[in-house]
Amino acid sequence: MLKELGCVGVVGAGTMGRGIAQVFALKGCPVVLVDSSKDALANALPGIKEHTAAELWPAVEKNLKTSADIQSLSGCGLIIEAVFEEAGIKKDVLKAIEAVCRRDALIATNTSSISIDELAEALSDPSRFAGMHFMNPPKVMKLVEVVKGKQTSDETVAAIVKAAAELDKVTAVVSDTPGFVTNRLLFALLGEAMRLLEGGVASREDIDATMKHGMNHPMGPLELADFIGLDVCRDIMLYMSEKLEDKKYAPPAVLVSLVSSGRLGKKTRAGFYDYGE
Ligand code: NAD
Repeated sequence: MLKELGCVGVVGAGTMGRGIAQVFALKGCPVVLVDSSKDALANALPGIKEHTAAELWPAVEKNLKTSADIQSLSGCGLIIEAVFEEAGIKKDVLKAIEAVCRRDALIATNTSSISIDELAEALSDPSRFAGMHFMNPPKVMKLVEVVKGKQTSDETVAAIVKAAAELDKVTAVVSDTPGFVTNRLLFALLGEAMRLLEGGVASREDIDATMKHGMNHPMGPLELADFIGLDVCRDIMLYMSEKLEDKKYAPPAVLVSLVSSGRLGKKTRAGFYDYGE
């Protein structure tokens, strides 16, 4: 499948876009990584190099090109959108991708929560569009959640599943729903952990210890929220609670207050925990 795709395009050279580009390049796929920010593009290759074993870097470097011009995606058989988690921005990017890409190209989004059907409104041919949800970091995490919108064709799902398998990923095919399966389950847990903390039922350490040592999770839920980024958690929860009309996903007060005070998790060295300098 990867050979048939020819070249793969990734739009958004942030945390996820870089990781996704790296995974395809490591498998010998030519990749074009596009971003509208000059800084993001300048940091992309050094950032990917930092997370690639020295002996594998020459192959990655050979396969990876960066570009500020969306037109450079015109030859790609699969284009994955990985820009900011904002429906309006994503729709504009998807429209721009469809305007320049091959008519048989598959278009995918790495969104972690936004409905595929909502994003598909931007496209004239939604049958070639699906969610291809990589986890962070894409090189390490085995799962790719493949999200089938109402208008996604079976052929599109099959091709994305096949491509993911060739990247040595495990796929879960799910129907469209805000948050999909991954984040409906994850944020039910994270939200409850935050509410237990808020209610004074246990300390952050004891809440995390229950899941790490009682359920064999590699990280506790509060630690994991810090790793994801508390602003990202808040935005995902807001979107899911609104779209699903379910208070279970409403961002708990403790989360909102940490975000307002600038404690965004590991990336700011402070969140539920303090991480020092
Ligand atoms: P990020 O903020 O690190 O990167 C986003 C990139 O998109 C930036 O470099 C930005 O310059 C670029 N961008 C924004 N608008 C653009 C446009 N119009 N054209 C081209 N480039 C544009 O974000 P991220 O964490 O990599 O997340 C990207 C997507 O992946 C989001 O939809 C997010 O929900 C999803 N996701 C994130 C994670 C995670 O743990 N970070 C995990 C799974 C999925």
